[in-house]
Amino acid sequence: MTKDCLMVWDGCLRIIKKNVTPQSFKTWFEPIRPVRLENNELTISVPNKFFYEWLEEHYVQLLKTSIRQELGERGRLLYHILDGVSKTPPPPVEQPSNKPSSEKDNEPVPGVFDAEMIKNPFVIPGIRRIKVDPQLKHNYTFENFIEGDCNRLARNAGMAIAKKPGGTAFNPLVIFGDVGLGKTHLAHAIGNEIVQRFPNKAVLYVSAEKFTNQIIQAIKNNAVNDFVNFYQMIDVLLIDDIQFLSGKQKTQEIFFHIFNQLHQNGKQIILTSDRAPKDLEGIEDRLTSRFKWGLSADLQAPDLETRMAILGAKMEQEGVDIPNDVLEFICYNIKNNIRELEGVMISLLAQSTLIRRDVDIELAKEVIRNFVKTINKEITVEFIQALVAEHFSVPVERLHQETRKRNIVIARQLSMFLAKKMTNKSLKAIGETFGGRDHSTVIYSCKAVQDMMDTDMIFRDTVSDLEKKINMSLNT
Ligand code: ADP
Ligand code: MG
Repeated sequence: MTKDCLMVWDGCLRIIKKNVTPQSFKTWFEPIRPVRLENNELTISVPNKFFYEWLEEHYVQLLKTSIRQELGERGRLLYHILDGVSKTPPPPVEQPSNKPSSEKDNEPVPGVFDAEMIKNPFVIPGIRRIKVDPQLKHNYTFENFIEGDCNRLARNAGMAIAKKPGGTAFNPLVIFGDVGLGKTHLAHAIGNEIVQRFPNKAVLYVSAEKFTNQIIQAIKNNAVNDFVNFYQMIDVLLIDDIQFLSGKQKTQEIFFHIFNQLHQNGKQIILTSDRAPKDLEGIEDRLTSRFKWGLSADLQAPDLETRMAILGAKMEQEGVDIPNDVLEFICYNIKNNIRELEGVMISLLAQSTLIRRDVDIELAKEVIRNFVKTINKEITVEFIQALVAEHFSVPVERLHQETRKRNIVIARQLSMFLAKKMTNKSLKAIGETFGGRDHSTVIYSCKAVQDMMDTDMIFRDTVSDLEKKINMSLNT
């Protein structure tokens, strides 16, 4: 190394320093060493290929300008990518700076980076180049993330991001919603789609819990800088369940730093949370206000049709066939949590295989009873009254009162009929729940309903619809 090459590089650094943030300078320029100067060509050594690509992608213009300032119009820059594995450096790998980084060149470039400078928890063992394992679940994709009104905004925003990571207004994208509604699935789907479309991008999925543990570890090992450096190399960072950061000040501080750096460099950030950013407690305002920079999209509980589509698709995926009415029954009863929906289905299938019973509504009922804590174990007269009153659009208390109004009389008689048929209550007990009527009134009502059913087909359909609804509403 001649003195000249040092001086030239020093001159370049002075120019660069004025044009980048101190952090970027420290991260990307301090580790560079000038190697030699020959025929107006300055060779610099960089730790690895990733580093080289980063410089080319982000600072090529700045590097060019500074080289020209120092060496004139004919000045050129060559890179020497260090090989940290063999201690004797191979002949320099040189790349003129004005040539775009070659896409074909996928040869692993071994780096000192992972071996010596940074304890990177995601480096795939056995592969020497810097390669981030995205930690993605392959079965969580867009294809099997069923679209519905409940998730349309989040799903579409995710898709837009996957097509153009860092290039949309949705940065960060915050996906929020209750447990079991698909936040984790959607985050992985975005990650998987990006990996497929942009194999060269460094994508990383990490739960906020794991992220926190890594920080604790890094603090213990005095390696916070390495930690931060590693995260700053990621192109698409997905952090799941950020509510977990609540109250963890040091983690928030480091995350704040990483967030800024990534965001500033046009990297994509995707976060999930069990509540809206504004409702996150124990998280610093400067962070939550940044979460609002992009788009916050919520996942709602899916409607019946979407639940059926989701469960239907899962069953098809698993190659199992269950009757449609059982599917509908389950979806009707499990409303707020897709994970629970899947759980019921799995135990249903397990039960049917173990005890060799047909998968039917009866079995589904038993399974759901075991599964859902808040379930009503039996059908009550009050419940029937409420459902029938709703169907006839009359206030339920009118069923208890004296009235000759035809639709109320029918609603009352039908409620008695269904109560007799669907509960174990005695005629006397049923009569009492209708404003203290006696058992003969109940008998009379049942007969009247039966007569109507025998003569009126439409009425018969109404009765069977209501019966079905009552049977389905175990969970209400
Ligand atoms: P969260 O992270 O919000 O608690 P998950 O992403 O773990 O929820 O989702 C729970 C289960 O529901 C997963 O098995 C997931 O595949 C499934 N799921 C959620 N939403 C959908 C959807 N729209 N289409 C298909 N499966 C879904
Ligand atoms: Mg989750």
